[in-house]
Amino acid sequence: MSGSVVKLEEVHKSYRLGQTSVPALRGLSLELRRGEFTALVGASGSGKSTLLNLVGGIDEPDSGRVLVEGTDVATLPDDERSRLRNQKIGFIFQSFNLVPVLDVFENVELPLLINRRIPASERRDRVRAAVEDVGLADFARHLPDQLSGGQRQRVAIARALVADPLLVLADEPTANLDSVTTHRIVDLMLELNARRGVTFFFSTHDEKLMSRVARVVRISDGTVVS
Ligand code: ADP
Ligand code: MG
Repeated sequence: MSGSVVKLEEVHKSYRLGQTSVPALRGLSLELRRGEFTALVGASGSGKSTLLNLVGGIDEPDSGRVLVEGTDVATLPDDERSRLRNQKIGFIFQSFNLVPVLDVFENVELPLLINRRIPASERRDRVRAAVEDVGLADFARHLPDQLSGGQRQRVAIARALVADPLLVLADEPTANLDSVTTHRIVDLMLELNARRGVTFFFSTHDEKLMSRVARVVRISDGTVVS
């Protein structure tokens, strides 16, 4: 259970902005092991989203390597990269990114409808279990706009977990929540990490959350500082 889930080796990434190039990651190296719960802490603009997007295969590094379970994501053909994204990685975003016309159950079901052949009855069982895991069993037929911010983020967590991913990436998942709700969401992620053994990597600029997690990776100007 101590294998390497994610490894970044000397990763550089810049964005082109007109004539200039904005460096986001400058030779960043990092390893996440199976079952770890790691917070990525850094000021706005330090490169947190860029790092999470590279790990999730949403973007590619300019140089260096991003390995997920030992495979260099950039070398995968497109179809295999999207399979990796769909089946091994769950994403949680700051703004929840729920589909407004779908209810809670249907939002959570979405990842299981993409590129999969899962019998409908098994699919329903998995969705029900994920919705129960985040404490929303009584809200399965509610639409997102009938829910609070904390409840919406719970839906996003259930959606990230329904496919039993290896790794969950959460980009500032609590940035739009009040502090009580923030701690509840962190409690829930910690509980799911312990119970399901899923590796969590979540970014925050909230220093108060650092005491809650076993491992904190701090980045500044695109490199790990501690
Ligand atoms: P964080 O998530 O920690 O706020 P980001 O990874 O979003 O940091 O950004 C790192 C740096 O890259 C910042 O200087 C930011 O302005 C720049 N950046 C991020 N995305 C883009 C983009 N699409 N185009 C140009 N610059 C970008
Ligand atoms: Mg960001």
